[in-house]
Amino acid sequence: KVRTRYAPSPTGHLHIGGARTALFSYLWARKNGGSFVVRIEDTDVERNVADAEKKQMEALKWLGIDWDESVDVGGPHAPYRSMERLDLYQTHLDKLLEGGQAYPCYCTQEELDREREKQLAEGVAPKYSGRCRHLSEEEREAFEKEGRVPSIRFRVPEGRTITVRDEVRGEVRFDSDGVGDFIIQRPDGRPTYNFAVVVDDALMEITHVVRAEEHLSNTPRQILLYEALGFEPPVFAHASLILNPDGKKMSKRDESVIQFIDQYRELGYLPESIINFLVLLGWAPEGEKAEEEIFSKEELIDLFSLKRVSKAPAVFDTGKLKWMNNHYIKESSTERITDLAIPHLARAGRISENPTGEELEWVSRLVGLYKEQLDYVAQIVELTEMFFREEARYSGEAKEVLSGEQVPEVVEGFIKQLETFEGALTPGEVKALLKTVQKETGHKGKKLFMPIRAAVTGEVHGPDLRETICLLGKEKVLARLKGFLE
Ligand code: GLU
Repeated sequence: KVRTRYAPSPTGHLHIGGARTALFSYLWARKNGGSFVVRIEDTDVERNVADAEKKQMEALKWLGIDWDESVDVGGPHAPYRSMERLDLYQTHLDKLLEGGQAYPCYCTQEELDREREKQLAEGVAPKYSGRCRHLSEEEREAFEKEGRVPSIRFRVPEGRTITVRDEVRGEVRFDSDGVGDFIIQRPDGRPTYNFAVVVDDALMEITHVVRAEEHLSNTPRQILLYEALGFEPPVFAHASLILNPDGKKMSKRDESVIQFIDQYRELGYLPESIINFLVLLGWAPEGEKAEEEIFSKEELIDLFSLKRVSKAPAVFDTGKLKWMNNHYIKESSTERITDLAIPHLARAGRISENPTGEELEWVSRLVGLYKEQLDYVAQIVELTEMFFREEARYSGEAKEVLSGEQVPEVVEGFIKQLETFEGALTPGEVKALLKTVQKETGHKGKKLFMPIRAAVTGEVHGPDLRETICLLGKEKVLARLKGFLE
């Protein structure tokens, strides 16, 4: 049975790269009717951030990525937080110590730093020299007497070729001599990542480890640990790097691209767009679907395969994400987008916080009018600015349109129609009024509509004019038309 996991360290909010890793793991589990585990790797305590675990899990849920086992729902392999599994790591560490596959290392940080500097100065790749590899009992005792607390290192076998079987990269070989004896337990008893991840993946019976390429170089170490502990290694799949729009490796500090899932959510990106976009960062379906770009989660569960994950770096194309989100917004109901738009409009002071009745009706028509144009919902504030201003502000193009000779006549004609109109304006009524202006002035088409649009909105482009006029309301429209004539 397929079992996959996403194993975030709670050091920050859910990042694009992490979300993609989680998604790939999730899809592979779901596709195979397997289980998906979310495990919190919190042993790097100095880097842990309060709330990060909660925020990451909320973001995953929002994306529609659900799990079968984790800190919140429990499961057969609980606990799912590394710091609550210290006794399990200890048991396995003791086995390695007994078998001589691990040993205490008394080197201080200063000593290690010096060793490293020397190697660098000599132009050799830095690697632990193995100073504590063969300490005698007396030497150990002497160090202990000095009050040194050891870390535990794994004794890396010499002269071995380690083969990583990777679904994405095929067989990747590493020479064990390039890998120095590495620390598996810190002096305070906490395991290091490489050790904890092996014990956890093995005990949790993970069959497929999907993660980012940056972990590929850790994998030979992990394979040696599987071997030493007598565990069968899982299948690995290392997804490619994600590059910035400008082709550089994405770093968390990079400001050219929004990097955290919460931020996209906040801006009014839809979870299905993010999922759809992320999955195509380094994956494409097979066969006739290879050229398609829009996939629902259900389709992805059906189509996904680790074999189709690419080892070529994926470029994060913000324009494509916007396009995709616009697609999903257009497909969504106006109610849904209105719900998302309300907090943005309210925060901008445009509407009340919880609009109801007529106000809600109005907001929803406003959103309906602009829905097609939205790349993300927060844009509604800027796009609809014109509705909330007292007077129109004319763009250069609008001024040009308004300098036409027929304009005063058309505008006066429309004022007259509006003033005599009684009752509620509907798009149909506005159409009729404009028709009358056409008859009375003899101006039609662009000569008629453009000046009205320009005088009312200050722009020459925009959504449906009749609905715009209705939503502005008779009073505001009249004020603007008159304001223009003054
Ligand atoms: N905690 C590790 C990380 O956040 C997980 C790596 C792995 O999947 O093995 O990078």
